[in-house]
Amino acid sequence: MRLRGWCERFRKAPRTAYRRSDSGRSHSPTASKRTRSDRADKGNEMMPAEWVDFKSVKAKVSMETVLSHYDVRLRRVGADEFRGKCPLPTHSSSRSNDSFSVSFARNAWSCQSASCIAARSGRVGGNVFDFVAEMERCSLREAALRLDRSLTEHLLPLTTPGNKEPVPDTPENRPLSFTLRNIDHQHSYVISRGLSEQTARYFGVGYYDGNGFLRGRVVIPIHNEHGDLVAYSGRAIGQTEPKYRLPAGFRKSHVLFNLHRAIQSRDCTLILVEGFFDTFKIHQAGHPNVAALMGSKLSDRQAELIGSHFDQVILMLDADEAGKSATAAAVTTLSSMIRVQIVELAPGSQPDQLASKEINQLLGGLAHDLSSPDR
Ligand SMILES: [Zn+2]
Repeated sequence: MRLRGWCERFRKAPRTAYRRSDSGRSHSPTASKRTRSDRADKGNEMMPAEWVDFKSVKAKVSMETVLSHYDVRLRRVGADEFRGKCPLPTHSSSRSNDSFSVSFARNAWSCQSASCIAARSGRVGGNVFDFVAEMERCSLREAALRLDRSLTEHLLPLTTPGNKEPVPDTPENRPLSFTLRNIDHQHSYVISRGLSEQTARYFGVGYYDGNGFLRGRVVIPIHNEHGDLVAYSGRAIGQTEPKYRLPAGFRKSHVLFNLHRAIQSRDCTLILVEGFFDTFKIHQAGHPNVAALMGSKLSDRQAELIGSHFDQVILMLDADEAGKSATAAAVTTLSSMIRVQIVELAPGSQPDQLASKEINQLLGGLAHDLSSPDR
Protein backbone atom coordinates (compact mmCIF):
# COMPACT_ATOMS: atom_id res chain seq x y z
CA MET A 1 0.00 0.00 0.00
CA ARG A 2 1.39 3.34 -1.03
CA LEU A 3 1.05 6.03 1.62
CA ARG A 4 -0.22 9.26 0.20
CA GLY A 5 -1.75 12.58 1.09
CA TRP A 6 0.39 13.11 4.18
CA CYS A 7 -0.32 16.34 5.86
CA GLU A 8 2.73 18.62 6.07
CA ARG A 9 3.03 18.56 9.84
CA PHE A 10 3.27 14.77 9.91
CA ARG A 11 5.82 14.54 7.16
CA LYS A 12 8.60 15.58 9.48
CA ALA A 13 7.73 13.01 12.10
CA PRO A 14 10.11 10.07 12.05
CA ARG A 15 8.63 7.01 10.41
CA THR A 16 9.15 4.93 13.48
CA ALA A 17 6.87 7.23 15.42
CA TYR A 18 3.81 6.04 13.56
CA ARG A 19 4.70 2.71 12.03
CA ARG A 20 5.20 -0.34 14.10
CA SER A 21 8.61 -1.84 13.80
CA ASP A 22 8.20 -5.50 13.01
CA SER A 23 11.82 -6.12 13.87
CA GLY A 24 10.98 -5.28 17.47
CA ARG A 25 13.42 -2.43 17.89
CA SER A 26 13.16 -0.79 21.24
CA HIS A 27 12.05 2.71 20.18
CA SER A 28 8.63 1.74 18.89
CA PRO A 29 7.03 0.63 22.14
CA THR A 30 8.51 3.72 23.79
CA ALA A 31 6.98 5.98 21.18
CA SER A 32 3.70 4.18 21.57
CA LYS A 33 3.69 4.56 25.31
CA ARG A 34 4.49 8.24 25.24
CA THR A 35 1.95 9.26 22.65
CA ARG A 36 -0.82 7.20 24.12
CA SER A 37 -0.53 8.93 27.46
CA ASP A 38 -0.32 12.26 25.62
CA ARG A 39 -3.55 11.40 23.92
CA ALA A 40 -5.24 10.67 27.20
CA ASP A 41 -4.11 14.04 28.55
CA LYS A 42 -4.92 16.15 25.56
CA GLY A 43 -8.08 14.59 24.21
CA ASN A 44 -8.62 15.22 20.55
CA GLU A 45 -5.68 17.53 20.06
CA MET A 46 -3.52 16.12 17.32
CA MET A 47 -0.01 15.43 18.43
CA PRO A 48 2.58 15.50 15.65
CA ALA A 49 3.83 12.10 16.72
CA GLU A 50 0.44 10.58 17.56
CA TRP A 51 0.96 6.97 16.91
CA VAL A 52 -1.32 4.67 15.02
CA ASP A 53 -0.89 1.00 14.50
CA PHE A 54 -2.35 0.40 11.02
CA LYS A 55 -2.13 -3.34 11.33
CA SER A 56 -3.91 -3.51 14.66
CA VAL A 57 -6.67 -1.09 13.59
CA LYS A 58 -7.15 -3.02 10.35
CA ALA A 59 -7.56 -6.25 12.29
CA LYS A 60 -10.32 -4.67 14.37
CA VAL A 61 -12.31 -2.89 11.68
CA SER A 62 -14.00 -4.73 8.86
CA MET A 63 -15.37 -3.29 5.62
CA GLU A 64 -18.77 -4.45 6.80
CA THR A 65 -18.54 -2.32 9.96
CA VAL A 66 -17.32 0.71 8.08
CA LEU A 67 -20.05 0.41 5.46
CA SER A 68 -22.77 0.17 8.07
CA HIS A 69 -21.20 3.13 9.86
CA TYR A 70 -21.77 5.17 6.70
CA ASP A 71 -25.15 3.55 6.12
CA VAL A 72 -24.07 2.02 2.79
CA ARG A 73 -26.36 -0.75 1.66
CA LEU A 74 -25.29 -3.35 -0.89
CA ARG A 75 -26.83 -6.45 -2.37
CA ARG A 76 -25.17 -9.81 -2.76
CA VAL A 77 -24.24 -10.66 -6.34
CA GLY A 78 -21.82 -13.54 -5.77
CA ALA A 79 -20.41 -15.82 -3.09
CA ASP A 80 -18.33 -12.94 -1.74
CA GLU A 81 -19.29 -10.00 -3.90
CA PHE A 82 -21.64 -7.23 -2.88
CA ARG A 83 -22.65 -4.42 -5.17
CA GLY A 84 -24.48 -1.15 -5.13
CA LYS A 85 -24.43 2.58 -5.57
CA CYS A 86 -21.04 4.17 -4.91
CA PRO A 87 -21.13 6.24 -1.69
CA LEU A 88 -17.86 8.10 -2.29
CA PRO A 89 -17.86 11.87 -2.60
CA THR A 90 -15.61 11.42 -5.64
CA HIS A 91 -18.47 9.71 -7.45
CA SER A 92 -20.16 12.19 -9.76
CA SER A 93 -21.69 9.98 -12.43
CA SER A 94 -25.42 9.49 -12.02
CA ARG A 95 -25.49 6.71 -14.62
CA SER A 96 -23.28 4.16 -12.89
CA ASN A 97 -25.58 3.02 -10.10
CA ASP A 98 -23.99 -0.35 -9.59
CA SER A 99 -20.29 0.35 -9.86
CA PHE A 100 -19.33 -0.08 -6.22
CA SER A 101 -18.34 -3.57 -5.17
CA VAL A 102 -17.03 -5.08 -1.96
CA SER A 103 -15.47 -8.37 -0.95
CA PHE A 104 -15.88 -8.97 2.77
CA ALA A 105 -13.49 -11.92 2.70
CA ARG A 106 -10.73 -9.75 1.27
CA ASN A 107 -11.93 -6.70 3.22
CA ALA A 108 -11.59 -4.69 0.03
CA TRP A 109 -13.70 -2.41 -2.14
CA SER A 110 -13.62 -0.91 -5.64
CA CYS A 111 -15.63 1.44 -7.80
CA GLN A 112 -15.38 0.77 -11.53
CA SER A 113 -16.87 4.06 -12.66
CA ALA A 114 -14.33 5.82 -14.91
CA SER A 115 -15.13 9.32 -13.60
CA CYS A 116 -14.89 8.15 -9.99
CA ILE A 117 -11.53 6.45 -10.64
CA ALA A 118 -10.28 9.61 -12.35
CA ALA A 119 -11.39 11.72 -9.39
CA ARG A 120 -9.38 9.39 -7.17
CA SER A 121 -6.26 9.93 -9.30
CA GLY A 122 -6.54 6.54 -10.95
CA ARG A 123 -7.12 4.43 -7.84
CA VAL A 124 -9.77 1.79 -8.42
CA GLY A 125 -10.30 0.70 -4.83
CA GLY A 126 -8.60 -0.26 -1.62
CA ASN A 127 -9.05 -1.29 1.99
CA VAL A 128 -10.89 0.20 5.00
CA PHE A 129 -8.37 3.05 5.37
CA ASP A 130 -8.65 4.04 1.71
CA PHE A 131 -12.42 4.00 2.02
CA VAL A 132 -12.55 6.17 5.14
CA ALA A 133 -9.92 8.52 3.69
CA GLU A 134 -12.07 9.02 0.58
CA MET A 135 -15.28 9.43 2.58
CA GLU A 136 -13.74 11.91 5.02
CA ARG A 137 -11.44 13.51 2.40
CA CYS A 138 -8.47 13.03 4.71
CA SER A 139 -5.13 11.24 4.63
CA LEU A 140 -4.79 7.51 5.19
CA ARG A 141 -3.06 8.21 8.46
CA GLU A 142 -5.87 10.49 9.63
CA ALA A 143 -8.36 7.81 8.53
CA ALA A 144 -6.55 5.22 10.65
CA LEU A 145 -6.47 7.61 13.60
CA ARG A 146 -10.18 8.31 13.28
CA LEU A 147 -10.98 4.62 13.15
CA ASP A 148 -8.76 4.01 16.15
CA ARG A 149 -10.53 6.78 18.08
CA SER A 150 -13.95 5.56 17.01
CA LEU A 151 -13.09 2.14 18.42
CA THR A 152 -11.88 3.67 21.69
CA GLU A 153 -15.02 5.74 21.97
CA HIS A 154 -17.31 2.85 21.04
CA LEU A 155 -18.59 4.66 17.98
CA LEU A 156 -17.72 1.60 15.96
CA PRO A 157 -18.41 -1.98 16.87
CA LEU A 158 -15.28 -4.05 17.14
CA THR A 159 -14.88 -6.81 14.60
CA THR A 160 -14.58 -10.12 16.30
CA PRO A 161 -12.84 -12.60 14.06
CA GLY A 162 -14.15 -16.11 14.58
CA ASN A 163 -11.00 -17.27 16.34
CA LYS A 164 -10.26 -14.92 19.23
CA GLU A 165 -10.28 -11.28 20.42
CA PRO A 166 -13.46 -10.99 22.46
CA VAL A 167 -15.15 -7.58 22.71
CA PRO A 168 -13.70 -5.95 25.83
CA ASP A 169 -16.16 -5.54 28.66
CA THR A 170 -16.09 -1.81 29.40
CA PRO A 171 -17.51 -1.00 32.81
CA GLU A 172 -18.03 2.72 32.17
CA ASN A 173 -19.12 5.03 29.38
CA ARG A 174 -15.96 6.97 28.67
CA PRO A 175 -16.24 10.68 27.87
CA LEU A 176 -16.03 11.49 24.17
CA SER A 177 -13.07 13.48 22.93
CA PHE A 178 -15.06 15.34 20.29
CA THR A 179 -18.33 17.16 19.77
CA LEU A 180 -20.42 17.18 16.62
CA ARG A 181 -20.56 20.47 14.77
CA ASN A 182 -23.02 22.13 12.43
CA ILE A 183 -26.17 20.92 14.13
CA ASP A 184 -29.39 22.52 12.91
CA HIS A 185 -31.44 23.37 16.00
CA GLN A 186 -34.26 24.75 13.91
CA HIS A 187 -34.83 21.71 11.73
CA SER A 188 -38.46 21.03 10.86
CA TYR A 189 -38.43 17.72 12.76
CA VAL A 190 -37.32 19.43 15.97
CA ILE A 191 -40.04 22.06 15.56
CA SER A 192 -42.63 19.37 14.75
CA ARG A 193 -41.94 17.74 18.11
CA GLY A 194 -42.90 20.96 19.87
CA LEU A 195 -39.44 22.16 20.88
CA SER A 196 -38.61 25.84 20.88
CA GLU A 197 -35.30 26.88 19.35
CA GLN A 198 -34.18 27.90 22.82
CA THR A 199 -34.90 24.41 24.20
CA ALA A 200 -33.14 22.73 21.27
CA ARG A 201 -30.07 24.92 21.75
CA TYR A 202 -30.06 24.34 25.49
CA PHE A 203 -29.94 20.56 25.02
CA GLY A 204 -27.74 20.72 21.90
CA VAL A 205 -30.39 18.85 19.92
CA GLY A 206 -30.69 19.19 16.17
CA TYR A 207 -30.33 17.73 12.72
CA TYR A 208 -26.89 16.46 11.81
CA ASP A 209 -25.83 16.44 8.20
CA GLY A 210 -22.21 15.29 8.65
CA ASN A 211 -20.69 11.88 8.14
CA GLY A 212 -20.93 8.72 10.17
CA PHE A 213 -23.70 6.61 11.62
CA LEU A 214 -25.63 9.67 12.83
CA ARG A 215 -25.81 11.32 9.42
CA GLY A 216 -29.30 12.51 8.53
CA ARG A 217 -30.60 12.07 12.08
CA VAL A 218 -31.55 14.38 14.91
CA VAL A 219 -28.70 14.06 17.39
CA ILE A 220 -29.10 14.23 21.15
CA PRO A 221 -25.98 14.66 23.34
CA ILE A 222 -25.96 12.38 26.40
CA HIS A 223 -23.90 13.20 29.49
CA ASN A 224 -23.03 11.30 32.63
CA GLU A 225 -23.97 12.61 36.09
CA HIS A 226 -20.81 14.74 36.15
CA GLY A 227 -21.74 16.47 32.91
CA ASP A 228 -19.19 14.71 30.67
CA LEU A 229 -20.44 14.07 27.15
CA VAL A 230 -20.50 10.28 26.79
CA ALA A 231 -22.55 9.63 23.64
CA TYR A 232 -24.86 10.95 20.99
CA SER A 233 -28.15 9.31 20.24
CA GLY A 234 -29.51 9.71 16.72
CA ARG A 235 -33.29 9.91 16.21
CA ALA A 236 -34.50 8.97 12.74
CA ILE A 237 -36.67 11.52 11.07
CA GLY A 238 -39.51 9.84 9.25
CA GLN A 239 -40.00 6.09 9.28
CA THR A 240 -36.36 4.94 9.05
CA GLU A 241 -35.42 2.07 11.35
CA PRO A 242 -34.01 1.90 13.90
CA LYS A 243 -35.83 4.81 15.46
CA TYR A 244 -32.83 5.55 17.69
CA ARG A 245 -29.18 4.82 17.12
CA LEU A 246 -26.65 4.66 19.94
CA PRO A 247 -22.94 3.91 19.66
CA ALA A 248 -22.02 0.26 19.98
CA GLY A 249 -20.90 -0.54 23.50
CA PHE A 250 -22.69 2.42 25.05
CA ARG A 251 -24.25 1.47 28.39
CA LYS A 252 -27.63 3.11 28.54
CA SER A 253 -28.40 1.59 31.94
CA HIS A 254 -25.42 3.42 33.49
CA VAL A 255 -26.75 6.92 32.93
CA LEU A 256 -29.94 8.92 33.14
CA PHE A 257 -30.47 11.43 30.40
CA ASN A 258 -30.19 15.04 31.71
CA LEU A 259 -29.33 13.93 35.26
CA HIS A 260 -26.38 16.35 35.51
CA ARG A 261 -28.65 19.32 34.83
CA ALA A 262 -31.31 18.03 37.22
CA ILE A 263 -28.61 17.79 39.91
CA GLN A 264 -27.44 21.33 39.09
CA SER A 265 -31.01 22.61 39.50
CA ARG A 266 -30.58 21.95 43.24
CA ASP A 267 -34.16 20.77 43.51
CA CYS A 268 -34.57 17.92 45.95
CA THR A 269 -37.24 16.33 43.73
CA LEU A 270 -36.53 14.58 40.44
CA ILE A 271 -39.17 14.17 37.75
CA LEU A 272 -38.44 10.87 36.05
CA VAL A 273 -39.63 10.23 32.48
CA GLU A 274 -38.94 7.62 29.81
CA GLY A 275 -37.58 9.46 26.80
CA PHE A 276 -35.54 12.36 25.46
CA PHE A 277 -38.53 14.25 24.12
CA ASP A 278 -40.45 13.83 27.38
CA THR A 279 -37.47 15.49 29.07
CA PHE A 280 -37.42 18.39 26.61
CA LYS A 281 -41.11 19.09 27.09
CA ILE A 282 -41.00 18.93 30.89
CA HIS A 283 -37.96 21.22 30.91
CA GLN A 284 -39.69 23.59 28.50
CA ALA A 285 -42.67 23.74 30.85
CA GLY A 286 -40.35 25.18 33.49
CA HIS A 287 -38.98 22.12 35.32
CA PRO A 288 -35.22 21.70 34.97
CA ASN A 289 -35.26 18.88 37.54
CA VAL A 290 -36.15 16.18 35.00
CA ALA A 291 -34.25 13.12 33.81
CA ALA A 292 -35.04 10.19 31.52
CA LEU A 293 -34.49 6.45 31.69
CA MET A 294 -33.97 6.25 27.90
CA GLY A 295 -36.35 3.33 27.92
CA SER A 296 -38.84 2.08 30.43
CA LYS A 297 -36.66 -0.09 32.62
CA LEU A 298 -35.03 1.37 35.73
CA SER A 299 -31.64 -0.26 36.28
CA ASP A 300 -30.07 -0.69 39.74
CA ARG A 301 -27.38 1.76 38.75
CA GLN A 302 -29.97 4.37 37.74
CA ALA A 303 -31.88 3.83 40.99
CA GLU A 304 -28.64 4.41 42.92
CA LEU A 305 -27.97 7.63 41.00
CA ILE A 306 -31.46 8.91 41.80
CA GLY A 307 -31.36 7.83 45.44
CA SER A 308 -28.00 9.44 46.05
CA HIS A 309 -28.94 12.86 44.62
CA PHE A 310 -32.62 13.40 45.43
CA ASP A 311 -35.03 13.16 48.35
CA GLN A 312 -38.02 12.36 46.24
CA VAL A 313 -38.93 11.27 42.76
CA ILE A 314 -42.02 11.90 40.68
CA LEU A 315 -42.60 9.10 38.20
CA MET A 316 -44.12 10.39 34.97
CA LEU A 317 -43.77 7.41 32.66
CA ASP A 318 -45.90 6.67 29.60
CA ALA A 319 -49.48 5.59 30.22
CA ASP A 320 -49.16 2.36 28.23
CA GLU A 321 -48.59 -1.22 29.37
CA ALA A 322 -44.79 -0.92 29.36
CA GLY A 323 -44.95 2.35 31.27
CA LYS A 324 -47.36 0.98 33.86
CA SER A 325 -45.29 -2.08 34.67
CA ALA A 326 -42.15 0.07 34.69
CA THR A 327 -43.82 2.43 37.16
CA ALA A 328 -44.74 -0.46 39.44
CA ALA A 329 -41.17 -1.81 39.31
CA ALA A 330 -39.66 1.65 39.91
CA VAL A 331 -41.91 2.22 42.94
CA THR A 332 -40.69 -1.02 44.47
CA THR A 333 -37.03 -0.18 43.90
CA LEU A 334 -37.04 3.53 44.72
CA SER A 335 -39.45 3.61 47.67
CA SER A 336 -36.89 1.81 49.82
CA MET A 337 -34.57 4.78 49.27
CA ILE A 338 -36.62 7.95 48.82
CA ARG A 339 -40.19 9.23 48.64
CA VAL A 340 -41.99 8.30 45.43
CA GLN A 341 -44.94 10.04 43.77
CA ILE A 342 -46.75 9.05 40.62
CA VAL A 343 -48.29 11.28 37.96
CA GLU A 344 -51.05 9.48 36.14
CA LEU A 345 -51.46 10.46 32.52
CA ALA A 346 -54.55 9.86 30.39
CA PRO A 347 -54.53 6.28 29.05
CA GLY A 348 -52.26 5.92 26.02
CA SER A 349 -50.61 9.30 26.41
CA GLN A 350 -47.04 10.27 27.18
CA PRO A 351 -45.39 13.49 28.44
CA ASP A 352 -43.90 14.53 25.10
CA GLN A 353 -47.42 14.90 23.69
CA LEU A 354 -48.48 17.35 26.37
CA ALA A 355 -48.50 21.14 26.23
CA SER A 356 -46.67 23.07 28.95
CA LYS A 357 -49.98 24.05 30.52
CA GLU A 358 -51.09 20.41 30.83
CA ILE A 359 -47.73 19.40 32.29
CA ASN A 360 -47.94 22.18 34.87
CA GLN A 361 -51.49 21.21 35.81
CA LEU A 362 -50.40 17.62 36.42
CA LEU A 363 -47.30 18.60 38.38
CA GLY A 364 -49.02 21.51 40.11
CA GLY A 365 -51.65 19.26 41.61
CA LEU A 366 -48.90 17.04 42.87
CA ALA A 367 -46.84 19.88 44.32
CA HIS A 368 -49.82 20.63 46.53
CA ASP A 369 -49.89 17.03 47.75
CA LEU A 370 -46.17 17.07 48.39
CA SER A 371 -46.55 19.87 50.92
CA SER A 372 -48.94 17.77 53.05
CA PRO A 373 -47.27 16.56 56.23
CA ASP A 374 -48.42 12.93 56.10
CA ARG A 375 -45.41 11.05 55.04
ZN1 LIG B 1 -17.58 5.66 -7.40
